[in-house]
Amino acid sequence: ESVVNRIAAGEVIQRPVSAVKELVENSLDAHSTSINVIVKDGGLKLIQVSDDGHGISYEDLPILCERHTTSKLSTFEDLQSIKSMGFRGEALASMTYVGHVTVTTITKGQLHGYRVSYRDGAMEHEPKACAAVKGTQIMVENLFYNMIARRKTLQNSADDYSKIVDLLSRFAIHHMHVGFSCRKHGAARADVHAVATSSRADAIRSVYGMSVARSLIKVETSDNDPSSSVFKMDGFISDSNYVAKKITMVLFINDRLVECTPLKRAIEIVYAATLPKASKPFIYMSVILPPEQVDVNVHPTKRELCRIKVSLLNQEVIIDKIQSVVESKL
Ligand code: ADP
Ligand code: MG
Repeated sequence: ESVVNRIAAGEVIQRPVSAVKELVENSLDAHSTSINVIVKDGGLKLIQVSDDGHGISYEDLPILCERHTTSKLSTFEDLQSIKSMGFRGEALASMTYVGHVTVTTITKGQLHGYRVSYRDGAMEHEPKACAAVKGTQIMVENLFYNMIARRKTLQNSADDYSKIVDLLSRFAIHHMHVGFSCRKHGAARADVHAVATSSRADAIRSVYGMSVARSLIKVETSDNDPSSSVFKMDGFISDSNYVAKKITMVLFINDRLVECTPLKRAIEIVYAATLPKASKPFIYMSVILPPEQVDVNVHPTKRELCRIKVSLLNQEVIIDKIQSVVESKL
């Protein structure tokens, strides 16, 4: 049973970055305004995510890491949106089967918090009272300690760390009202340092730098367009001043960080045809669609690292429309 659980957990949490993604999404779900990540050895030694969200109540601590236990199902109106959010109530449990998880949390109005460690889907001991500031801190230590083959394939810690930095950069510009930081354990300087802001352009500048920020063009679909009943899109794209060797496409569909290769290709084609320099663009786009229009591929082995592949049921209409919006702005 424990081997089966471990194998299943290893599918949900494929790499350190998948653990970071799940932890940060939980922090966002808890309405945090500040999320800070510390990583040691590419995440294999330590991943620590601290937030200032609503915390976890004492009663919930014993079942927190049981599989398929979630406090969130009531917030999803229909099965489709449950499906599009991927696994429910599996992330934390999975981490306890392939790593050592310690949770420190305090809820509103409490004088002290609690700390508890988990292994294999259960608490290792009763929650201990402890001092705590607002919110939750989750530490995952020794990830894949019991999966020797997996650890071997993850020897390049710089590679895993850069995937984590990339993930948090993307989150930081989409969730601009939330402050994000990410640093290596013991490092004075953060590699992602995004303060909360109400300006998307500011968020992009603080994460991706001046050369991107200087060249941003706002794009959006208009409300009186007939296709706006099918979808809405808004975002920023780079202009001809921006020079890069490869495309950066930060795409959120229905607030989920996803990858959509056909859309990415379609935008590259517009740039290649419109701008004389064969420069690759920076694209940030947030697309809102009725949930039944999105097919999110959440099969664990196909969950490409941290980003989920998506296909759009109305793909041609949507891509055509986005292409024409981009073209009209270049
Ligand atoms: P899910 O997010 O699908 O519910 P998880 O395994 O990711 O499942 O988390 C299990 C539960 O733990 C969540 O439903 C939530 O109640 C609680 N939780 C996890 N992380 C946090 C956090 N940072 N702040 C508040 N609650 C959290
Ligand atoms: Mg979760």
